[in-house]
Amino acid sequence: MRIDVLTLFPKMFEGPMGESMIGKAQENGHLEINVSNFRDYSANKHQTVDDYPYGGGAGMLLKVQPIYDNLEAIKEETPASKKRIVLLDPAGTPFNQKMAEDFSQEDHLIFICGHYEGYDERIRSLVTDEVSIGDYVLTGGELGAMVMIDATVRLLPEVLGNELSAKADSHSTGLLEHPQYTRPAVFNDMEVPEVLKNGNHKLIENWQLKEALRRTWQRRPDMLEKIELTDEMKKLLEE
Ligand code: SAM
Repeated sequence: MRIDVLTLFPKMFEGPMGESMIGKAQENGHLEINVSNFRDYSANKHQTVDDYPYGGGAGMLLKVQPIYDNLEAIKEETPASKKRIVLLDPAGTPFNQKMAEDFSQEDHLIFICGHYEGYDERIRSLVTDEVSIGDYVLTGGELGAMVMIDATVRLLPEVLGNELSAKADSHSTGLLEHPQYTRPAVFNDMEVPEVLKNGNHKLIENWQLKEALRRTWQRRPDMLEKIELTDEMKKLLEE
Protein backbone atom coordinates (compact mmCIF):
# COMPACT_ATOMS: atom_id res chain seq x y z
CA MET A 1 0.00 0.00 0.00
CA ARG A 2 1.12 3.56 -0.69
CA ILE A 3 0.05 6.41 1.59
CA ASP A 4 0.65 10.09 0.90
CA VAL A 5 0.08 12.77 3.50
CA LEU A 6 -0.25 16.46 2.66
CA THR A 7 0.54 18.62 5.67
CA LEU A 8 2.14 21.86 6.79
CA PHE A 9 3.89 19.94 9.59
CA PRO A 10 5.75 16.94 8.11
CA LYS A 11 7.92 16.56 11.22
CA MET A 12 4.86 15.49 13.22
CA PHE A 13 4.94 12.18 11.30
CA GLU A 14 8.64 11.42 11.80
CA GLY A 15 8.46 9.61 15.16
CA PRO A 16 5.05 7.94 15.32
CA MET A 17 5.04 6.56 11.78
CA GLY A 18 8.46 4.93 12.22
CA GLU A 19 7.55 2.81 15.26
CA SER A 20 5.83 -0.51 15.94
CA MET A 21 3.73 -2.14 13.23
CA ILE A 22 3.67 0.86 10.90
CA GLY A 23 7.46 1.15 11.09
CA LYS A 24 7.88 -2.60 10.47
CA ALA A 25 5.42 -2.57 7.57
CA GLN A 26 7.60 0.06 5.88
CA GLU A 27 10.82 -1.84 6.63
CA ASN A 28 9.32 -5.02 5.15
CA GLY A 29 8.18 -3.21 2.00
CA HIS A 30 4.42 -3.69 2.60
CA LEU A 31 3.87 0.02 3.06
CA GLU A 32 5.30 3.25 1.66
CA ILE A 33 4.45 6.53 3.41
CA ASN A 34 5.33 9.82 1.69
CA VAL A 35 4.78 13.03 3.60
CA SER A 36 4.78 16.26 1.60
CA ASN A 37 4.54 19.86 2.71
CA PHE A 38 2.01 21.61 0.50
CA ARG A 39 3.71 24.91 1.32
CA ASP A 40 6.40 23.75 -1.14
CA TYR A 41 3.74 23.91 -3.89
CA SER A 42 2.60 27.46 -3.20
CA ALA A 43 2.80 29.62 -6.34
CA ASN A 44 3.17 32.68 -4.15
CA LYS A 45 6.72 34.06 -3.82
CA HIS A 46 6.33 34.16 -0.02
CA GLN A 47 5.02 30.57 -0.08
CA THR A 48 1.80 31.52 1.68
CA VAL A 49 -0.84 28.80 1.88
CA ASP A 50 -3.64 30.72 3.63
CA ASP A 51 -5.68 33.86 3.11
CA TYR A 52 -8.58 35.86 4.59
CA PRO A 53 -12.10 34.53 4.05
CA TYR A 54 -14.31 36.31 1.50
CA GLY A 55 -17.13 38.03 3.35
CA GLY A 56 -15.08 38.37 6.53
CA GLY A 57 -14.93 36.20 9.60
CA ALA A 58 -12.36 35.01 12.08
CA GLY A 59 -9.13 33.28 11.07
CA MET A 60 -7.50 32.27 7.83
CA LEU A 61 -8.44 29.63 5.28
CA LEU A 62 -6.22 27.23 3.33
CA LYS A 63 -5.99 28.24 -0.32
CA VAL A 64 -6.90 25.76 -3.02
CA GLN A 65 -3.84 26.22 -5.32
CA PRO A 66 -1.03 24.66 -3.18
CA ILE A 67 -3.12 21.59 -2.34
CA TYR A 68 -4.26 21.22 -5.97
CA ASP A 69 -0.66 21.36 -7.25
CA ASN A 70 0.59 18.95 -4.56
CA LEU A 71 -2.13 16.45 -5.57
CA GLU A 72 -1.26 16.87 -9.27
CA ALA A 73 2.41 16.11 -8.52
CA ILE A 74 1.38 12.88 -6.73
CA LYS A 75 -0.91 11.96 -9.65
CA GLU A 76 1.93 12.47 -12.14
CA GLU A 77 4.18 10.25 -10.06
CA THR A 78 1.56 7.49 -9.68
CA PRO A 79 -0.63 7.70 -12.82
CA ALA A 80 -1.73 4.06 -12.65
CA SER A 81 -2.93 3.91 -9.06
CA LYS A 82 -6.61 4.23 -8.15
CA LYS A 83 -6.60 6.86 -5.41
CA ARG A 84 -8.76 7.50 -2.41
CA ILE A 85 -8.23 11.15 -1.42
CA VAL A 86 -9.30 11.81 2.17
CA LEU A 87 -9.88 15.30 3.53
CA LEU A 88 -9.58 15.58 7.33
CA ASP A 89 -12.51 17.69 8.46
CA PRO A 90 -14.67 17.91 11.61
CA ALA A 91 -17.72 18.11 9.32
CA GLY A 92 -16.80 14.83 7.55
CA THR A 93 -18.25 11.34 7.96
CA PRO A 94 -17.24 9.94 11.36
CA PHE A 95 -14.35 7.47 11.03
CA ASN A 96 -15.04 3.91 12.20
CA GLN A 97 -13.77 0.35 11.92
CA LYS A 98 -15.79 -0.33 8.76
CA MET A 99 -14.10 2.62 7.08
CA ALA A 100 -10.67 1.34 8.21
CA GLU A 101 -11.56 -2.03 6.66
CA ASP A 102 -12.54 -0.34 3.37
CA PHE A 103 -9.37 1.76 3.34
CA SER A 104 -7.24 -1.36 3.95
CA GLN A 105 -8.53 -2.79 0.63
CA GLU A 106 -7.13 0.16 -1.37
CA ASP A 107 -3.68 0.42 -2.97
CA HIS A 108 -3.22 4.17 -2.57
CA LEU A 109 -4.56 6.52 0.10
CA ILE A 110 -3.93 10.27 0.25
CA PHE A 111 -4.70 12.24 3.42
CA ILE A 112 -5.02 16.03 3.39
CA CYS A 113 -4.45 17.67 6.79
CA GLY A 114 -6.10 21.02 7.27
CA HIS A 115 -5.06 23.84 9.58
CA TYR A 116 -6.13 27.38 10.62
CA GLU A 117 -9.92 27.89 10.28
CA GLY A 118 -10.23 25.22 7.59
CA TYR A 119 -10.47 25.07 3.80
CA ASP A 120 -11.48 27.12 0.83
CA GLU A 121 -14.67 25.22 -0.08
CA ARG A 122 -13.30 24.33 -3.55
CA ILE A 123 -10.75 21.99 -1.95
CA ARG A 124 -13.66 19.62 -1.30
CA SER A 125 -14.07 19.10 -5.06
CA LEU A 126 -10.56 17.55 -5.21
CA VAL A 127 -11.25 14.68 -2.81
CA THR A 128 -13.15 11.39 -2.71
CA ASP A 129 -13.88 11.36 1.05
CA GLU A 130 -14.33 13.89 3.87
CA VAL A 131 -13.70 12.25 7.22
CA SER A 132 -13.85 13.32 10.88
CA ILE A 133 -12.18 11.41 13.71
CA GLY A 134 -14.72 12.57 16.30
CA ASP A 135 -17.00 15.30 17.56
CA TYR A 136 -14.32 17.71 18.73
CA VAL A 137 -12.01 20.19 17.00
CA LEU A 138 -8.25 19.67 16.73
CA THR A 139 -5.69 22.27 15.71
CA GLY A 140 -4.86 20.36 12.54
CA GLY A 141 -5.58 17.14 10.69
CA GLU A 142 -2.22 15.45 11.44
CA LEU A 143 -3.23 13.47 14.53
CA GLY A 144 -6.42 12.38 12.79
CA ALA A 145 -4.47 11.19 9.74
CA MET A 146 -2.18 9.18 12.02
CA VAL A 147 -5.20 7.61 13.74
CA MET A 148 -6.65 6.56 10.39
CA ILE A 149 -3.32 5.29 9.06
CA ASP A 150 -2.76 3.20 12.19
CA ALA A 151 -6.28 1.71 12.19
CA THR A 152 -6.00 0.92 8.46
CA VAL A 153 -2.46 -0.42 8.22
CA ARG A 154 -2.88 -2.92 11.08
CA LEU A 155 -5.62 -4.56 9.01
CA LEU A 156 -3.30 -5.34 6.07
CA PRO A 157 -2.97 -9.15 6.14
CA GLU A 158 0.83 -8.99 5.85
CA VAL A 159 1.10 -6.52 8.76
CA LEU A 160 -0.84 -7.98 11.69
CA GLY A 161 0.87 -11.33 12.31
CA ASN A 162 -2.23 -13.13 13.51
CA GLU A 163 -5.05 -12.18 11.15
CA LEU A 164 -7.60 -13.75 13.48
CA SER A 165 -6.82 -11.29 16.25
CA ALA A 166 -8.00 -8.32 14.11
CA LYS A 167 -11.24 -10.14 13.29
CA ALA A 168 -11.99 -10.60 17.01
CA ASP A 169 -11.13 -7.00 17.95
CA SER A 170 -13.71 -4.69 19.51
CA HIS A 171 -15.79 -3.07 16.72
CA SER A 172 -14.76 -5.63 14.05
CA THR A 173 -17.41 -8.05 15.28
CA GLY A 174 -19.96 -5.33 16.04
CA LEU A 175 -19.42 -6.04 19.76
CA LEU A 176 -16.83 -4.89 22.27
CA GLU A 177 -14.19 -7.50 22.97
CA HIS A 178 -14.71 -9.92 25.87
CA PRO A 179 -12.43 -9.70 28.97
CA GLN A 180 -9.07 -11.46 28.66
CA TYR A 181 -6.51 -12.73 31.18
CA THR A 182 -2.89 -13.83 31.23
CA ARG A 183 -0.76 -15.35 34.02
CA PRO A 184 -0.78 -15.43 37.03
CA ALA A 185 -4.06 -17.28 37.70
CA VAL A 186 -4.53 -15.27 40.94
CA PHE A 187 -3.39 -11.70 41.60
CA ASN A 188 -4.34 -9.84 44.82
CA ASP A 189 -7.27 -12.26 45.32
CA MET A 190 -8.52 -11.58 41.79
CA GLU A 191 -8.94 -14.92 40.00
CA VAL A 192 -9.04 -15.88 36.34
CA PRO A 193 -12.54 -17.33 35.64
CA GLU A 194 -12.52 -21.11 36.00
CA VAL A 195 -14.06 -21.70 32.56
CA LEU A 196 -10.97 -20.27 30.83
CA LYS A 197 -8.72 -22.81 32.53
CA ASN A 198 -10.66 -26.01 31.83
CA GLY A 199 -9.75 -26.38 28.12
CA ASN A 200 -13.36 -26.90 26.95
CA HIS A 201 -13.39 -24.82 23.75
CA LYS A 202 -17.17 -24.77 23.32
CA LEU A 203 -17.68 -23.56 26.91
CA ILE A 204 -14.90 -20.96 26.47
CA GLU A 205 -16.45 -19.69 23.22
CA ASN A 206 -19.88 -19.39 24.89
CA TRP A 207 -18.40 -17.53 27.85
CA GLN A 208 -16.49 -15.13 25.57
CA LEU A 209 -19.57 -14.35 23.48
CA LYS A 210 -21.69 -13.86 26.59
CA GLU A 211 -19.10 -11.53 28.16
CA ALA A 212 -18.73 -9.57 24.90
CA LEU A 213 -22.51 -9.14 24.83
CA ARG A 214 -22.58 -8.14 28.51
CA ARG A 215 -19.79 -5.58 28.09
CA THR A 216 -21.40 -4.11 24.96
CA TRP A 217 -24.82 -3.95 26.62
CA GLN A 218 -23.35 -2.22 29.71
CA ARG A 219 -21.01 0.22 27.95
CA ARG A 220 -22.33 0.71 24.42
CA PRO A 221 -25.98 -0.36 24.12
CA ASP A 222 -26.18 1.70 20.92
CA MET A 223 -23.92 -0.88 19.22
CA LEU A 224 -26.38 -3.70 19.90
CA GLU A 225 -29.04 -1.83 17.95
CA LYS A 226 -26.83 -1.91 14.85
CA ILE A 227 -26.21 -5.66 14.65
CA GLU A 228 -28.49 -8.55 13.94
CA LEU A 229 -28.55 -10.74 17.05
CA THR A 230 -28.26 -14.46 16.30
CA ASP A 231 -30.50 -16.94 18.15
CA GLU A 232 -27.43 -17.97 20.17
CA MET A 233 -26.81 -14.36 21.21
CA LYS A 234 -30.46 -13.86 22.20
CA LYS A 235 -30.36 -17.02 24.32
CA LEU A 236 -27.14 -15.90 26.04
CA LEU A 237 -28.57 -12.45 26.71
CA GLU A 238 -31.62 -13.98 28.37
CA GLU A 239 -29.51 -16.15 30.73
N1 SAM B 1 -13.26 25.87 11.54
C1 SAM B 1 -13.25 24.47 11.33
C2 SAM B 1 -14.64 23.92 11.66
O1 SAM B 1 -15.32 24.50 12.49
O2 SAM B 1 -15.02 22.88 11.10
C3 SAM B 1 -12.22 23.78 12.20
C4 SAM B 1 -10.83 23.93 11.68
S1 SAM B 1 -9.67 23.04 12.65
C5 SAM B 1 -9.09 24.23 13.76
C6 SAM B 1 -8.31 22.88 11.55
C7 SAM B 1 -8.17 21.55 10.84
O3 SAM B 1 -7.96 20.53 11.79
C8 SAM B 1 -9.35 21.09 10.03
O4 SAM B 1 -9.39 21.70 8.76
C9 SAM B 1 -9.11 19.60 9.94
O5 SAM B 1 -8.18 19.26 8.93
C10 SAM B 1 -8.47 19.30 11.27
N2 SAM B 1 -9.45 18.78 12.24
C11 SAM B 1 -9.87 19.37 13.37
N3 SAM B 1 -10.75 18.61 14.03
C12 SAM B 1 -10.89 17.48 13.30
C13 SAM B 1 -11.67 16.29 13.46
N4 SAM B 1 -12.48 16.13 14.48
N5 SAM B 1 -11.56 15.34 12.52
C14 SAM B 1 -10.75 15.49 11.47
N6 SAM B 1 -9.98 16.60 11.26
C15 SAM B 1 -10.05 17.57 12.16
